[in-house]
Amino acid sequence: MLSGELWPAHPHPYAGECLSSWIVRTAHHNGLKVQTFSDLTFGKHNQIWNRDIDKLAPDLVMKIMSSFTSTSRAITNKTTLNLYTNRLFPTIRPSGILRWVNPLVLHHRKHTAFGMQYCPVCLSEDKEPYFRIAWRLAIYTFCPIHKVMMKDHCKCGASVNFHRIELGKANIIDVGTLDECWQCGSKLSDIAVRTIDLRPKSVFSIWNRVLGVIQRSFVNSGPINYNRLILVHQICKIIASKRFNHNIQSYICDKSAMPFCDISEKTYFEQHNVYERHYILQLAWWLIGNTPRKLEESLKCNALKVNYLYRDSQEHFLRQLFSLSSGKL
Ligand SMILES: [Zn+2]
Ligand SMILES: [Zn+2]
Repeated sequence: MLSGELWPAHPHPYAGECLSSWIVRTAHHNGLKVQTFSDLTFGKHNQIWNRDIDKLAPDLVMKIMSSFTSTSRAITNKTTLNLYTNRLFPTIRPSGILRWVNPLVLHHRKHTAFGMQYCPVCLSEDKEPYFRIAWRLAIYTFCPIHKVMMKDHCKCGASVNFHRIELGKANIIDVGTLDECWQCGSKLSDIAVRTIDLRPKSVFSIWNRVLGVIQRSFVNSGPINYNRLILVHQICKIIASKRFNHNIQSYICDKSAMPFCDISEKTYFEQHNVYERHYILQLAWWLIGNTPRKLEESLKCNALKVNYLYRDSQEHFLRQLFSLSSGKL
């Protein structure tokens, strides 16, 4: 059945769709369970669901998806996190946390962390609900289209695992759309949305612009400033660190009139839940802004130590910028 030049049903990826969502939809469109479809097309020896397939897609999978759906390799390549190489991080490493990417933490093919987020409004407006690659990003805490907070779990508390929604269902016909919780069966989009507070305006205009560029997969949207994002990430790391954050968090909250909130302890910024990341990013964007003025002032009054700005970072850019300038940007 699936041996022809094109599969009987060969949907193309929707704008911004991630590979895993595309594979699951293709399986369902062909009336097959995800596991059966994967075994038939990629081979039983190529298990793809025990890994983060949107991060580590084997070339064979990309090739098969591209040719059997008649989708160009250029479009196929945009369905994985590789889209962000040299834009948000320098390269994809097979293990460890990738800068700006929420980890899935797989256990027996189940995502145990809250790495895939979703905008409930986007999902409910989709003709056929699908998941976007941008929704994996730690910086993407709100939807730049609808200006609502992203969600990172169902109202029952389960993480998003759309490749598991057919489990326990004998007949594939039972499967609804990807907008369904694998654990409780309710609609993921059927959840109270929270509109974001767009103040301070300086914070949101710059952040919203970056998310807009990411949402459009960098098409017709101009470049994003790679180095500034490295700096924002470094500030997020400092604010999220119990050991290094205290002065700078209080300093930003005092100056910006944003509230001082407790931040839970995590090893990496990307491990925080969407609300904590949103809060940390808000403070970091305020400090970095469009000009170096606020950052310079925070260094001058010792709210932030210069060496924190390149501590634990492999990025030469940070070291060069700060160690050579002794705090002057
Ligand atoms: Zn949305
Ligand atoms: Zn649920």
